[in-house]
Parts: sequence; structure tokens; C-alpha cells
Amino acid sequence: MLSAQQPSASERPWLDPGATPQIVIENVHKQFGGFTAVDRLNLRIYRGEMFALVGASGCGKTTLLRMLAGFETPTSGRILIDGVDMTDVPPHQRPVNMMFQSYALFPHMTVEQNVGYGLRRIRESESVKSRRVAEALAMVQLEALAGRKPHQLSGGQRQRVALARALIRRPRVLLLDEPLSALDKKLREQTQFELMNIQYQVGITFVFVTHDQDEAMALSTRIAVMNRGRVLQVGAPADIYEFPASRFVADFVGTTNLFEGTIERSGAGLVAMRSLETGTELCVDDGGRHEAGHRVWLSVRPEKIRLSKQPPEGERINRLKGVVWELGYLGNRSTYRIKTECGKIVTVFAQNERRSSQWAIDWNDEVYLSWTADSAVLLAD
Ligand code: ATP
Repeated sequence: MLSAQQPSASERPWLDPGATPQIVIENVHKQFGGFTAVDRLNLRIYRGEMFALVGASGCGKTTLLRMLAGFETPTSGRILIDGVDMTDVPPHQRPVNMMFQSYALFPHMTVEQNVGYGLRRIRESESVKSRRVAEALAMVQLEALAGRKPHQLSGGQRQRVALARALIRRPRVLLLDEPLSALDKKLREQTQFELMNIQYQVGITFVFVTHDQDEAMALSTRIAVMNRGRVLQVGAPADIYEFPASRFVADFVGTTNLFEGTIERSGAGLVAMRSLETGTELCVDDGGRHEAGHRVWLSVRPEKIRLSKQPPEGERINRLKGVVWELGYLGNRSTYRIKTECGKIVTVFAQNERRSSQWAIDWNDEVYLSWTADSAVLLAD
């Protein structure tokens, strides 16, 4: 989350076993002919969440969103929103609205007319409708552009028109399919903050699909990582990042280094594994039960690895030697790819704290890699 404050317990209802979810996705299965797009999926989403669905292309994210909206019907299973079974409820009668990736604005209509279009099925007087349009435009700060046509707007402004049109019906849940994908990187980051502010103002649940993991990390209360129609892990961004449940999740969300090995011994919170690739013992702070001989993978994020030209001081655990194989300067940080003595390539991110054209550590330098036992995780799958 981008917010400066840690969410309180009441803002994390998923941790409260007594809390009632707003959306219950129960054993939902979707078959297109012989192809399974969504596979007996279960999810619970709480009121006010900014919930992200992430996963590789074709894993079923959009299909799930479309079933929530009512544009697709589950082959089996059911979806409840605020306790009501949505099976027989048509899209326009559901308390949800969807904002499409393409924004689907009408080119011949002005901004004001596009936003007002969202009220076409609402039985209200024209004056009430005008007031609601004005309020919606104010919310996305587009009052001054009310008379323009979509082609006279920037990408970010078009996104805000689509958002206002989707929110004007006051849905209880807003579904967003790749809401920021049409924007360039800089604008996307700025718009992420705007989207969060608007969601906070309106207080409704947002469920969004994204390809962009950084966006999911920055925006969401929780993330569901999907693969082949299934949810592999659901959690707050930091939990998913720091405690991935499987290699797929560790690798999909952010960058990681994986070392395959077998458990050698385990005790007092510290587990030692023998890495097949490095031939060395690697240690992880892990309270779980692990039996000697079990096959595991150690995952360590690139920013958790220290890089030095001198042998690191302290305990000789989790230490490898190698040479700088590749080096990428990214402004705020550098990415090193280190070829270790055993031939395995390890990625390391280092912050560029000082302004210098001289690399402290350069191509072909001999270096040591080290990390603490509590900065890695063990994965059984
Ligand atoms: P992307 O990130 O590429 O948008 P996605 O995770 O949103 O992918 P979906 O659009 O949900 O994926 O599609 C899931 C799978 O179901 C894909 O393999 C897709 O080809 C298939 N699929 C989706 N809609 C249909 C359909 N109407 N008929 C047949 N197959 C479909």
C-alpha cells in the first residue's frame, strides 16, 4: 500500500474470522468447450478492499471479472454479493459496474455526455442527473473539460472520464480491467495515487485485473496470484512478496533467486539445506517442520543480497563467491548478474547511494555475495 500509515485491524477484515465478506466466490468453475478457464475457484473479498487479480496471460483473470459483472455465467459454483446469489441476476441489476481496459468512450459524445450515459437506466429527474454528473466530474477533476470530446483528451483524462462514468451509478463494487494499462509509466504512477484517493473517497470495493505487478503491489489491500484458472495465493502485498507460498508466486511477483536443495538439518528456527547447484550449505530462518532429505527451494530477493569485494565479516553462512557477469545501471539502482563459482547466475540489486560515474563494483570484478538467514524463505513447492 502507498499509504503512510499501517492499516488498522478493522481495515484488514480478512484477518478477522468473524468478518462478513462482501463478495463470496464459491467453487466457481468456467469451461469454454473442453477448456477450463477458471478452475473451482474460491475467494472472499471484503467491503472497501482494493483487490488485485494478477497472473500470467490467459490464467482466467478477465473471465473471473466478467463472471462477477454477469457477462459470463459460471459453468458451476456461485457468486454472492452482499449475501445475494448473483446466479440469476442480469448484469445491469447487479450492484457492480465494470470499467473496461479500452475505456469504451463514445467518440461523438462530450465528456459530460459520456459520464451522464452511465445514468441512462436510472429513473431520476434531469436536474438530479445533472447534479450527479457534475459531482462525478468534480470527483475526477474534469469540470473544466466537460465540453470536450474524447479525442481532445490525454490518455489520463480519458481514464478519468471512464472512471467517472463507471462510478456515477454508485455501484457497491467496481470492476476494473487493466485500469491504467493505456498510460505511460510516469502517468501511471501518478494515476495510481489518484485512483487510490478516489477509491478512498467513494469507499466502495474495487476489484482490478493487472499485468503490472508493481501496480498491484502499490495499489492493493490484497493480491490474488492466479495460474491456470486457480488462485495460488492471496495476501497483502508485503506478505505475498516476503512470504511467497510457492516458486511460482516468488518468481511471478518481483524477481527472486531460487536455489534447489535438500534439507540437511533443522532446529531452533534455523534450517540448513544442501544446495545442489552451489554444493554449499545454505541456512534459512524458518520455524516450520522440515524433515532431512526433503527437496526444497530457497528463495532470496535480489535486494536482500549484499555485494562486497572483501569477504564479509561475521558468520560464514550464506556466502558465495563469483564475478560480475552483467551490470545494468538503472539510475536509482544497479542490477548485477553475478556468475558464482559453481556457474549459477545470481541477481543482485544495489542502491546507488552516491553520485559517481565510477562503479564501485565493475564488470569482471571478483565479489562476495552474502545474505542473512532471515532474509530468505524456504519453499516446498
Ligand atoms: P490476459 O491477461 O491475457 O487478458 P486473462 O488472465 O485475463 O488473460 P482470460 O481472458 O480470462 O485470461 O482467458 C482465460 C482463458 O480462457 C484463455 O486461454 C482464453 O483464451 C480463454 N477464453 C476466454 N474467453 C473465451 C471464450 N469466450 N471462448 C473460448 N475461450 C475463451
